[in-house]
Amino acid sequence: MTSSLQPQPVSTDMPNSACFGDCADCGRRHALPIGNARGLALDLLHDIESAGRLDFDVPEHEADPRYSLDNVIRPGHGNMFGILECESAEGETVVLRAFSSLRHGIRRIDGWVLPLLSASLYDETILPAQDEIKRLTTELNAQPVGSKEHQRLQDERRNVSRDLWEQMCAAYRFRNFRGGERSLADAVVPGTPITGGMGECCAPKLLNHAAIAGLRPLSMAEFYWGSGPQHGSRISGEFYESCEARCQPILGYMLCGLDES
Ligand SMILES: [Zn+2]
Ligand SMILES: [Zn+2]
Repeated sequence: MTSSLQPQPVSTDMPNSACFGDCADCGRRHALPIGNARGLALDLLHDIESAGRLDFDVPEHEADPRYSLDNVIRPGHGNMFGILECESAEGETVVLRAFSSLRHGIRRIDGWVLPLLSASLYDETILPAQDEIKRLTTELNAQPVGSKEHQRLQDERRNVSRDLWEQMCAAYRFRNFRGGERSLADAVVPGTPITGGMGECCAPKLLNHAAIAGLRPLSMAEFYWGSGPQHGSRISGEFYESCEARCQPILGYMLCGLDES
């Protein structure tokens, strides 16, 4: 068994699609093919590796040292990157690219799609609450179950989690291809637990950008890039499915309206 928090390699049973989710409105699964995005993602992988930085669009002397791979990715770790091939209203191909959360809180680099939330909202509200929950969990685990302190910490963590849930539900707005827009609570498949990081992966960033810009997605691919010893079971340069815990529950809504003419 693999944890649902680990990205799964693209299934050999369904090798043509890695971005999918169940839609509660239609009662069926929507999916985007990998299609041309696979080759475009390999080009991106090559650009990143040969430049050694994420601002590879600019000449070397203009490069920002903060965006070097050594700085944005912790040694021995890696990151997910995504490509969305789209068609504009005029019939032109537009290729979008995204990264999932980078080290040092770097969220915006020219040439990459923007995150759903503003930097200030994310840094001042979402991140501190996530850190607080982690801290409380560590403290909680150090206390004997049934003790007064254990109970107090459990109550406190529940309150912080509830606040975070409300803040995330209010802050994130997800678009789809029927012209719809929903909060996180309304976009997820009913009954899905809301967890930190929903909306921060490549797939929702790319699809939201496309929907806002009036672009029609044609294909998507997400790959992992890592340096040094491999992190978990992920392999550098391998394609992965949109993650089960954070992405699949919202992708059904976000992809809705795409697979019909
Ligand atoms: Zn994800
Ligand atoms: Zn649908």
